[in-house]
Amino acid sequence: MTSTALPTTDDLRARALTCLRNIGARAPEGDDLPARTPVTGEPLFGLRAATRADADEAVTAARAAFLTWRTTPAPRRGDLVRRLGELLRDHKGDLADLVTVEAGKIRSEALGEIQEMIDICDFAVGLSRQLYGRTIASERPGHRLAETWHPLGVVGVISAFNFPAAVWSWNTAVALVCGDTVVWKPSELTPLTSLACHHLLARAADETGAPRDVHRLLLGDRAVGERLVDDPRVALVSATGSTRMGREVGQRVAARLGRSLLELGGNNAAIVTPSADLDLAVPSIVFAAAGTAGQRCTTLRRLIVHRDTADTLAERLTEVYGRLPVGDPFDDTTLVGPLISTTALDAMHHALGRVRADGGEVLAGGARRLAASAPAAAYTEPALVRAGEQSGVVREETFAPILYLLTYDTLDEAIALHNDVPQGLSSSIFTRDQREAELFLSAAGSDCGIANVNIGTSGAEIGGAFGGEKDTGGGRESGSDAWKAYMRAATSTVNYSGELTLAQGVSFL
Ligand code: NAD
Repeated sequence: MTSTALPTTDDLRARALTCLRNIGARAPEGDDLPARTPVTGEPLFGLRAATRADADEAVTAARAAFLTWRTTPAPRRGDLVRRLGELLRDHKGDLADLVTVEAGKIRSEALGEIQEMIDICDFAVGLSRQLYGRTIASERPGHRLAETWHPLGVVGVISAFNFPAAVWSWNTAVALVCGDTVVWKPSELTPLTSLACHHLLARAADETGAPRDVHRLLLGDRAVGERLVDDPRVALVSATGSTRMGREVGQRVAARLGRSLLELGGNNAAIVTPSADLDLAVPSIVFAAAGTAGQRCTTLRRLIVHRDTADTLAERLTEVYGRLPVGDPFDDTTLVGPLISTTALDAMHHALGRVRADGGEVLAGGARRLAASAPAAAYTEPALVRAGEQSGVVREETFAPILYLLTYDTLDEAIALHNDVPQGLSSSIFTRDQREAELFLSAAGSDCGIANVNIGTSGAEIGGAFGGEKDTGGGRESGSDAWKAYMRAATSTVNYSGELTLAQGVSFL
């Protein structure tokens, strides 16, 4: 199915300008960084990219702001984030529109992304009164041993196109209450959303008396990100994107003994056991695999189904895939918007070609849509594929809506298949058998950072820590105690005994 006609590029340009104006952000200017829309695939505006000197100046300013921000009491730092959350609530619709214009997300998912920002602001405000350290039992009489958490410094945030706003807020809301300042290099594919977010935070800073330079924005491509990566004044580089990017960033930051927090690619799987409730599993699988047009790091890419259930499930999924509305992401009936670019579409077609060459079969979808009306855009039907047993393409992340169906006979075999990929982000099992669920969640089960039962691989809440293992980079962001990555711990021993007692029974003098 294809939903109604697409808006024109002029409509989208006017819409983006209206959103920026409502938010109060400066209209874009410049000509060395094009802002495009995947809705038509065409350019919207020219922008100015940051130079080497801009990057240097931004880090200098953020470092200077850090020196006052780090001693501002944490609950006062929370005031800034509370105000940011209020402004995000006020401008939820405008921000969601920008996400749809730039990233092509359907309206409901774009609104969900902004809600996620509001949620993390609420979380961070609470956190601003809970940056707890521990008191530890000392082995020496009259001594107190304690751990205190201190701000780290300037945090460089490098983000990906597919969550142009939420990933920034996970990092920034938490970093700010932790007493850090932030320099943000957003994806070059989504500069307008970042201009809007930066403006709202600057306004929140002005209104709460925080230094403006607690946050700086640097637009540009990877060369701008590399400035943050190599700058020794950037204490933590939090980078979200492809595994290729993470390998480069991780090694360069490590070479200067800096800290990095890496949130990289996934190749997420769900196991469907014979006891699974298919009425629950089918919509969960389709949302996880086809939602956001397959462009989430947590997108479901591999479905590992018990051999006895495989045909029934494939039939039910084929039927749903056949009626997924593809088209204008602003249309409320659309469920699948555009891919970010025709390059992404080419990668999808290349992967489908490899599936066929390896003896697999496309069961549903995979055809390009709207090519005549929008030749520069990349609309596609999500593809459901029966993969060949040995197909290497299954082990790679193709950032597009392809769901590979694989079959298993024993649960041990399914778990081995599940873990036999380089990435380790998100995973799930559909089962009504508690023993199967517990095995999947145990140390002998999923090797991912996220392991779910009877729910898809995507759509995490902010309260838990988010991130994955292996080629996904090992980072954790958002909830739980992910805040510790944005701080440094100091261990202090206080001797109030009046005697010198050395640890481990050492005697000296
Ligand atoms: P990308 O790797 O192309 O770019 C991500 C960001 O890194 C951009 O801002 C880019 O300019 C910058 N960059 C690229 N190379 C760099 C370098 N050498 N040094 C410094 N900066 C560099 O990724 P993308 O196409 O924007 O996003 C899709 C990818 O991101 C997918 O692999 C997806 O799984 C992953 N992703 C992961 C998470 C997660 O939390 N694990 C979340 C969202 C996206």
